[in-house]
Amino acid sequence: MKFETKAIRIQTERSQHREHGTPIFPTSSFVFNDAEQMRSLFAGEETGNIYSRFTNPSVREFELKIAALEEVDDAFATSTGMAAVFAVFMTFLKKGDHVLASKALFGSTYNLLNNRLSNWGIKFDFIDPQTPKEWEEKVQSNTKMLFIETPSNPGLEIIDLEKAGQFSKNHQLIFCVDNCFATPYLQQPTKYGTDIIVHSATKFMDGQGRVMGGAIAGSQDLVDEVRSFCRSTGPALSPFNAWVLSKSLETLAVRMDRHCENAISLAKFLESHPEVLKVNYPFLESHPSYQVAIKQMSQGGGLVTFEVKGGLKQGIEFLNAMEMLSLSANLGDTRTIATHPASTTHAKVSEEARLEVGVTNSLIRISVGLEHIEDIIGDIDNALNKSSQHFN
Ligand SMILES: *Cc1c(COP(=O)(O)O)cnc(C)c1O
Repeated sequence: MKFETKAIRIQTERSQHREHGTPIFPTSSFVFNDAEQMRSLFAGEETGNIYSRFTNPSVREFELKIAALEEVDDAFATSTGMAAVFAVFMTFLKKGDHVLASKALFGSTYNLLNNRLSNWGIKFDFIDPQTPKEWEEKVQSNTKMLFIETPSNPGLEIIDLEKAGQFSKNHQLIFCVDNCFATPYLQQPTKYGTDIIVHSATKFMDGQGRVMGGAIAGSQDLVDEVRSFCRSTGPALSPFNAWVLSKSLETLAVRMDRHCENAISLAKFLESHPEVLKVNYPFLESHPSYQVAIKQMSQGGGLVTFEVKGGLKQGIEFLNAMEMLSLSANLGDTRTIATHPASTTHAKVSEEARLEVGVTNSLIRISVGLEHIEDIIGDIDNALNKSSQHFN
């Protein structure tokens, strides 16, 4: 089956009620036919549902879809994207191990590495995603994992998955990719030797700004380890959220097509706008990693970033002058959202570290939604023109 068909047709086995849409299974536990079945399920001799912290049919449907869409053996779903990131670190790293991580990372992942992992004796080094020579210098005998994000949030840096995969193979590292911005519809990291794919399902997978969720996908042995860790630590996804997310995946392909179409139109419009200093979008030829982006992604994704000519002050005027666009912390919604990473998601990252990954003080991130492109461009154009009045 093709991507779109799998996203729609994988579903929980039909019940005696012959329902067409999948029901939700809001139950914390499951009943056993007899004591022997209970014993053998607990012993792992028989597979089946026991307790929703371990497995639940609604959650399982979502997991099986993620695994099928990423073309890997299995997946485990979590309550948020950060729960997925944390579970990956905690499952595969122990005291004395070392991680290499791209410095172009989501703010909370960056903070987790920078401020928390040392509590468990886990060491790390940040690497510049664009200089693989530096990766070779920083890899150590105790390095266990390479963790990257491409395109990165919010800098939209593109990392060459093929090179990163080869590097991980050469050094026998567990290669983890946060595939949140691309989704499996635009990019399948497993084709480049990725061992573990992490998702925040809160973003494009839900795509409608309703629920939070996360997922970890990979080969059977690795996902089994993650499942075993999560079974005793409890980051399980709720059945209701899983049901919403599984339904959302049915429309992922059509939504992503429109997100990408609107985003490239907006990026091209901004490139020619007199108030704009710089536009960043992976499928613009001016993007520094354009060649890599077109090699590993089928379209450029739903995020565009730009800088206004008048710096931070004009950026703030711009955000306040918008009439339709939402000022909100989410992304990957039907609604177009503008954010200012330097004062929000990346406020806890030092200015020096922010600048290294392209998060300048005037950077504005647009998560391009599904409204009509003329309305999106109209609102941004108006707000840019209004914000310029004080600066020219
Ligand atoms: C949002 C996000 C996360 C975290 O996901 P939550 O669902 O908010 O916990 C991780 N990685 C990336 C790239 C994100 O954008």
